[in-house]
Amino acid sequence: MKLPPFEYACPTSISEAVALLASHDGEAKVLAGGQSLVPMLAFRVAQPSLLVDLRKLSELRRIGIADDGVTLGAMVRWRDILEDARLAIAHPLLVEAVGHVAHYQIRNRGTVGGSVAHADPAAELPGVIVTCEAKIAVLGKAGARVIEAADFFRGPLTTALATDEIVTEIRLPPWPPRRRFGFAEFARRRGDFALAAAAVFYDEDGGGGAHNAHVGAVGVADSPLRLTGVEGVLNGHSIDDAAIAMAASAASASVDPADDIHAGGAFRKTLIGVMVERALRSAVA
Ligand SMILES: Cc1cc2nc3c(=O)[nH]c(=O)nc-3n(C[C@H](O)[C@H](O)[C@H](O)COP(=O)(O)OP(=O)(O)OC[C@H]3O[C@@H](n4cnc5c(N)ncnc54)[C@H](O)[C@@H]3O)c2cc1C
Repeated sequence: MKLPPFEYACPTSISEAVALLASHDGEAKVLAGGQSLVPMLAFRVAQPSLLVDLRKLSELRRIGIADDGVTLGAMVRWRDILEDARLAIAHPLLVEAVGHVAHYQIRNRGTVGGSVAHADPAAELPGVIVTCEAKIAVLGKAGARVIEAADFFRGPLTTALATDEIVTEIRLPPWPPRRRFGFAEFARRRGDFALAAAAVFYDEDGGGGAHNAHVGAVGVADSPLRLTGVEGVLNGHSIDDAAIAMAASAASASVDPADDIHAGGAFRKTLIGVMVERALRSAVA
């Protein structure tokens, strides 16, 4: 299918990219990997007058690993994450989740900035960054700001970004070496968007009890969710069969997904409980 007509710009600095977006009064769009935007153009879901291609902005391709956490530049691709051996230690939950994203060709071009800006409710990365309480750094005409992941996602394909703002990086808090974690997803085919997925992590105190439990879900609401009720079930307890069963039923009880063309709401409600159970079993193992 042919794309609608548009102007094309390929700036060499972020400030130039922001100026181009600002000068088009909401009619310009950023082009990153193009894996979501190009289909949207083909289907006329988006018809921008200008595409601002970020491919020459090498400063957005950086993966930073430091004591204060992991930083992913907006143009970091799925493939870059999977191929960076440091990340398997610095943020294993991120790597595990990205292993479920799409297929080889899409991973070769799709970017983390594109994923968060696109805000698909079934996408893995938004779920991980909400679960981990990450921050999203953005730059626009009015300057730079940092948005909590939980405040960034406003609904399907809707975010807190202004039309002249570019996502510059995602900042994940530090990951202690002995932290327990799991990610479980159910999709119709390997690489498809999740029908439901759960991300979990917790730390252990000296006696084997869990604390600092974080549980997130995707595919069961308009945006990724943190299931704080489930976290309350886990904190202060050993993660044994009984705790896992309680967490799974609390997860199902805490969501109310709508029916859509992919699955019924009741099915997803059951499924998220199963995903939380699997993610917790993986964390224990
Ligand atoms: C067949 C198929 C299967 C897929 N499966 C999955 C999956 O299982 N899980 C998953 O998470 N994703 C999946 N995707 C989506 C894929 O991961 C995309 O790459 C990703 O969602 C968007 O990244 P992109 O770099 O391609 O962004 P683009 O398509 O270039 O842009 C997407 C949107 O984000 C905006 N944007 C991009 N970068 C920025 C930025 N830095 N600042 C501000 N706005 C920006 C664009 O203007 C556009 O609105 C799939 C895609 C396809 C085609």
